[in-house]
Amino acid sequence: MSLEYTTERANDLIANVTSIKEEVASLSGGKTNLVCVSKLKPASDIQALYDVGYRHFGENYVQELIEKAKILPKDIKWHFIGGLQTNKCKDLAKNIPNLYAVETIDTIKKAKKLNDVRKQMIDAKTPGFGNVGVLIQVNTSGEEQKSGCEPGEELDELVRVILEECHSVDFHGLMTIGSYAVSHGEGENQEFKLLAELKEHLEQKFNLPNLQLSMGMSGDYQQAVRQGSTSVRVGSSIFGVRPPNNGH
Ligand SMILES: *Cc1c(COP(=O)(O)O)cnc(C)c1O
Repeated sequence: MSLEYTTERANDLIANVTSIKEEVASLSGGKTNLVCVSKLKPASDIQALYDVGYRHFGENYVQELIEKAKILPKDIKWHFIGGLQTNKCKDLAKNIPNLYAVETIDTIKKAKKLNDVRKQMIDAKTPGFGNVGVLIQVNTSGEEQKSGCEPGEELDELVRVILEECHSVDFHGLMTIGSYAVSHGEGENQEFKLLAELKEHLEQKFNLPNLQLSMGMSGDYQQAVRQGSTSVRVGSSIFGVRPPNNGH
């Protein structure tokens, strides 16, 4: 993996990311963070945006993230946003000191596994390792096959366990992936609305200040920001269409 990029490629990426960043800033009054989703894109693309000041990058595949994190600058704030199996939590927790947040926690088992392995790294005084942020992925569509924690008791219990029993992770907030149909419908997005309501409910119930709301991708980030997103995850509008994910 080379970190060298052409001026032409860098100029394209910078033009794309700048216009999105400005749009998000104007819609949110500067309150929404932009995570550049670089999955299946070369490390050199990330380096090009890093070199003009971008630090938040999102990846979906554990092994790809580990390999990129190894060679890219150590002050990048990595977001893991992919589907997560419990047995991969260990790899995430122990290989990436600058893992900023895991956004796809949806079971107590995964939260505990991530926490336990991170704790081992911290207790062993492994250089660079500290707490990891976690967001709970919520199934806001009600679709059976969609991953994510169910709103209601299941969500509240997961939050409780993270707050009370997982001291090597920091609870940042909630994340959802809008379903295609709802994201491309007219007007207010009911899934984003539900996530925003759940955030308020949890802030009150657990007396938490300002939880994060990670919602909005290339197709629906404007609407997500209008509905209170504090972190949008944008990939293809910055980096272009992705190659097929063979091998994952
Ligand atoms: C791939 C992905 C994104 C970015 O999607 P784009 O439509 O390319 O912007 C955002 N969030 C998650 C969870 C993803 O898997």
